[in-house]
This record gives sequence, structure tokens and C-alpha cells, in this order.
Amino acid sequence: MSYDKVEVPEDGEKITAVDAENDELDVPENPIIPIIHGDGIGQDVGPAAQKVLQKAAEATGREIHWMRVYAGESAREKYDENLPEETVEAIREHRVAIKGPLTTPVGAGFRSLNVALRKKLDLYANVRPTYHLDGVPSPVKEPEKMDMVNFRENTEDVYAGIEWEEGTDEVEKVREFVEDDMGFDETIHQGAVGIGVKPITEFGTKRLVRKAIDYALENDRDSVTLVHKGNIMKFTEGQFRDWGYEVAEEEYGDEVITEDTLWEEQDGEQPDDAVVVNDRIADNMLQQLLTRTENYDVLAMPNLNGDYLSDAAGAQIGGLGIAPGANFGDGRVLAEPVHGSAPKYAGQDKVNPSAMILSGRLMLEYIGWEDASQLVRDAVEATISSKKVTYDIERQIEGGEKLATSEYADEICKNIEDLA
Ligand code: NAP
Repeated sequence: MSYDKVEVPEDGEKITAVDAENDELDVPENPIIPIIHGDGIGQDVGPAAQKVLQKAAEATGREIHWMRVYAGESAREKYDENLPEETVEAIREHRVAIKGPLTTPVGAGFRSLNVALRKKLDLYANVRPTYHLDGVPSPVKEPEKMDMVNFRENTEDVYAGIEWEEGTDEVEKVREFVEDDMGFDETIHQGAVGIGVKPITEFGTKRLVRKAIDYALENDRDSVTLVHKGNIMKFTEGQFRDWGYEVAEEEYGDEVITEDTLWEEQDGEQPDDAVVVNDRIADNMLQQLLTRTENYDVLAMPNLNGDYLSDAAGAQIGGLGIAPGANFGDGRVLAEPVHGSAPKYAGQDKVNPSAMILSGRLMLEYIGWEDASQLVRDAVEATISSKKVTYDIERQIEGGEKLATSEYADEICKNIEDLA
């Protein structure tokens, strides 16, 4: 397709899908990759990530042809709208992309652009690996025990955006329907109310849990834990749990075994190649993250649980400056850091770009560039271990050298050269 304000790099080639449903892509050595730098600190971490990822590509004999696309503030300047259709189309067409954070005002104003992008592109699994890099300070004693990958459902739950504002005719209609027609009389307090709906579907749950189990099988992981609040929200979160087990039992044969079967039939002995599927209630899971960290491997969760839990897990391995993520659909990925746009630091060349850089790793892995991805990880680790770090890490360690965002990215690039 031709674009109005997006410049398509001339020498790059498009990544195409061979079998989108099974994530099989045809990736040239000179792919065009769309990038949204993002709002706030996006202007600092976006270019830094671009530089480091390019360096890793070049060090492994390839070249990324970046294609700037716009959302948030940069889009308002260029298009006078928050999320131009051609940004969505460019990512849809090129399949693999990366973005920085986008600001979402609380309460009034527009809906989250991040949520809109994920929905429009049907990027249904938000994947956040949490592993510890040597030298990164952590609030826990043994951060190296954590090596988890969180799969968070991305398109439904209370994030579906079905909600009504207090004081409107609509919210009063919904109240009336719930109380009078559905029999929940006197369940909602009198006076002003805001109401939202929490849809959890079989389709949404099963495709998410499938992605998590597939990942566990492909990456030799031991378990997939379904994290839910089904004891309270029986017909939504409880159903997530039941559908999750259904996928495991009906679609994977001997490759997957449930925790109950493991104890009932195998005395708790896990077969070598099998992935165990178990479930934990979300509040318990949040404490087990701290008390039994090493027992957990791959987690699959509805949207809200996944949001809370992956930030909490991110804190254990060094905080938001480090925590990477990516949104996966069928044959499609949009990498993005867990952190937001931290407006107070915008444009100061100050914050840590590691989260966006490590999100880029997920993108590189997805296109099969494992060597480049490993180089990025090793170079980030080497840089942090040498105590050349940004402010967030420097304030937590003894004898660190505080670098600007751009200097830190340069240091990682040097380490890529040395390690390649
Ligand atoms: P935030 O932007 O993530 O920042 C919260 C704090 O986390 C910062 O003040 C800073 O802590 C630390 N931090 C975040 N990124 C960092 C980095 N790269 N390096 C070092 N420290 C970092 O969260 P927020 O202030 O709640 O959200 C701001 C805006 O971002 C909101 O509009 C929100 O909706 C949006 N948001 C977007 C996304 C996304 O685009 N996917 C995700 C989350 C939030 P210290 O000040 O303590 O150093």
C-alpha cells in the first residue's frame, strides 16, 4: 500500500507470512521494521533502542531498514489525530514492529492508544519475560531465581472498554437492566455509579492459553500456570481456568499433563518432556512470586491479572527500566517495554532504555535472529555489570557511573562490537 506521511525505506524488503497461524514468516536479511518512538521518554528510549538493535543486526550480517510511524503526540502533530489509520496499516502490512510508550490520560480524554493498537491488530497475547541480568539491583535477596514468561490476554476482560460514565442515561439504563431485568435488585448502591463489563470468552481464553503452552513446549519449560480469581468471579475468571484446562487436556495429548493427574496417577513425578498445567488464585500467586519464585515458569492470565502481576514480577528483577514485553498475534508481533511514558523525564536523555532494547530482543527472536538477540542480552548485561548505568540503577548500586540514555546505548553498542 502507499502511505501519505510514512516514508517507506527504499532498500528494505518486507517480512511476509508463510503460515501466519503457526507464526511462520519469511524474513529477508534487510527487513523493513516500523517503529513508533512513543510519547514522553519515548523520544529518548526509542532512538537508543533503534541504534542498539541495528548494531546487533549489523554484527550478525544483516541490516534493519527502520520505518518511522506515528502515534500519540507525534501523530497529533503530523496528522491531527492520535492513531492514524496508516500507522495501524503499516504495522499490519509489515508484521513485525516495535513501539515506545504512549501516554494515556486518566479519566477523561481518549481511550488508551496502546489498548487500541493491540485490539486493531488483534495482538491478543502480551508476553513479558522476567529474568534477571547480572549486576541489576533488585529489592529481593535472590533475584536470579526468577525466570518466568507471562502471557497476558490482551483483548478482553475489563479492558474491553465496555463501560458507562456516572450520570449518563446509558449508565442508568444498565443499572435498571441489571437490577430489574437480571434480578440483582439492591446490589448496586444508590447514587452515582460507573459500570463496566468484564467479558471473558472461550475463544479469547483458548487462543491465549494455546500460545502459552506452545511457548512452554518449544522452549523446554516445565509448567504453565493459569492465574485467575475464579473463587470470586466464577463465570469469568473461573471460566478462564476451566477453558484453560480444556485446551491442555483436549489438544496436547501426552505432551501436557495437569497437576491433578500428575499427583493422582504419577505420584508427583513429572515426565521428562511433559509440561505441567496448574492453576493458582491471583492473590496467592502474587505472594508466591516472592516466596516460591523458582517454582514458576510460564504464566497465562486474563488481562487485568496479567497487568498487575507482570509489573510486580518486573520489580523483582530490577524494575520498569529493565522489564521488556511484546504483543503477539498470529504471524505478527509488536514489541513494547512494560513502562509508560514517564512524562517528568521526557527529553532529558536520562532514563534507562534497557526495557525497550530488551523488548527488541523479543522481536529479533520472533524473526529467528537468535544470534542477534543473544548479543543484545549479553551486551546489556556486560554494560550493567561494568557499572556504567543510567540514573535508576546508579542510585541503587555502589560505585556506579551515571550515563545519559544515549551514552548508555553507545556503551552497549561498543560491547556488541567486542562480543560479536
Ligand atoms: P511510567 O511512565 O512507567 O513511570 C513510572 C516511574 O517508573 C517513573 O517515574 C520512573 O520511576 C520509572 N520508570 C519508568 N520508565 C523508566 C525508564 N525507562 N527508566 C527508568 N525509570 C523508569 O508510569 P506512569 O507515570 O504511571 O505512566 C505515565 C504514562 O504512561 C501514563 O499516561 C500511562 O497511561 C502511560 N503508560 C503507557 C504504557 C504503554 O505505552 N504501554 C504502559 C504503562 C503506562 P522514578 O521516578 O522512581 O525513577
